[in-house]
Amino acid sequence: MEHLLPARLRSLQEITAALVETRIAPQASLVDETSQWPAHSMKALGEAGLLGLTVPEAFGGHGQGLLGLSVITETIAGACPSSALCFGMHCVGTAVIAAKATGFQQERYLREIAEGRHITTLALSEHGSGAHFYLPETTLDVESDGFVISGTKQFVTNGGQADSYVVSTVARSEGDSGDFSCVIVDRDAEGVTWLDHWKGFGMRGNSSRPMRLDQTRVPQENLLGEKGDQVWYVFEVVAPFFLMAMAGTYLGLAQAALDAAGEHLRARRYSHSGESLRDVESLQVRYAEMWTAVQKTRALIREAGRRGDTGHPDALPWILSCKADAGETAVWLANEAMTICGGAAYRDNSRIAQILRDARAAHVMSPTTDLLKQWTGRSLLGLPLL
Ligand SMILES: Cc1cc2nc3c(=O)[nH]c(=O)nc-3n(C[C@H](O)[C@H](O)[C@H](O)COP(=O)(O)OP(=O)(O)OC[C@H]3O[C@@H](n4cnc5c(N)ncnc54)[C@H](O)[C@@H]3O)c2cc1C
Repeated sequence: MEHLLPARLRSLQEITAALVETRIAPQASLVDETSQWPAHSMKALGEAGLLGLTVPEAFGGHGQGLLGLSVITETIAGACPSSALCFGMHCVGTAVIAAKATGFQQERYLREIAEGRHITTLALSEHGSGAHFYLPETTLDVESDGFVISGTKQFVTNGGQADSYVVSTVARSEGDSGDFSCVIVDRDAEGVTWLDHWKGFGMRGNSSRPMRLDQTRVPQENLLGEKGDQVWYVFEVVAPFFLMAMAGTYLGLAQAALDAAGEHLRARRYSHSGESLRDVESLQVRYAEMWTAVQKTRALIREAGRRGDTGHPDALPWILSCKADAGETAVWLANEAMTICGGAAYRDNSRIAQILRDARAAHVMSPTTDLLKQWTGRSLLGLPLL
């Protein structure tokens, strides 16, 4: 399927694959075992210019869209899913900034990102609205020289590590009351404190932390788009870029599970009979089903990316369904790989155990699998998503 990718994207994929082999994969187990944020991966990706993947070419980036993001996160996730998640959330945040960037934001954020000197990320989720990430309770008050923001964001990937945070808010001020807006909060903004690390079942290196904003002042130029634009950002930019970044990540995990199963089937031979596991018919069938699932998921994701990037009128159900599908494929294949690879895979913190733990994040990261299936059905039936 790789031969169908545009030449420019193939070359970015090859650059990423080389970095993964030399700089990301060697430390992947350490990232998981020590819950360490993958600074080395972000550094390597920055040095190769890949932090600017979704920055428009006019500001020094690669101008990649949904397809490009899914292909690059897939390539990273095969070795280090936490790195793919951190990189993916940076690219989604970048796409949000780029969507309606002012001259100030282009120079201050996009150029820096393209030069590999700035990491951003999304801070949308809150305890109060949970999976309904598009309904923030973090407040925004308008003042003469900017905004004052208060609230607590949950599960912020790259928390405490990124240079800026795309934060969603709801206005309290008279006249603007009820308007949802996104703003960029810089890492050193006053009133920002980081609460304890959330210790994940998987995706352990993503530095997921609650972010408290206590009367945090944000300059006027850090508003994204117009006041009240947040809903547009969430459904036109955040959701499609996030879904494709995560679909790629979970596809990479599914491929890793398939590869591990194939390796074990080829290598395992019994001393008492000389029989190889690959000669066992029922395992041949299981392996074939796993391979087919990966190909189907990849085809769905690639088609979703192509439709999304070209503004195809029917892109929506493709984009909505592909992260749910990739999550299910990854969890199923990780389970299958654990069965096929036997006791070695079931040992504490084996590679397959890590894949299974990381894959399981797919179903709880919002938009969650259940919500996505419901939204896909609604879009196919001509109903509004919410
Ligand atoms: C590894 C990881 C990284 C994350 N990174 C970020 C990040 O960078 N930025 C960020 O903003 N957030 C991030 N999140 C937050 C993520 O999006 C949250 O997990 C999400 O908001 C779910 O919130 P919750 O735990 O309160 O779930 P709950 O709201 O308690 O939901 C529990 C379950 O109920 C289901 N549910 C709820 N309502 C409905 C409904 N109407 N119909 C059907 N099912 C429903 C949900 O689908 C879910 O399965 C991350 C989460 C994880 C696990």
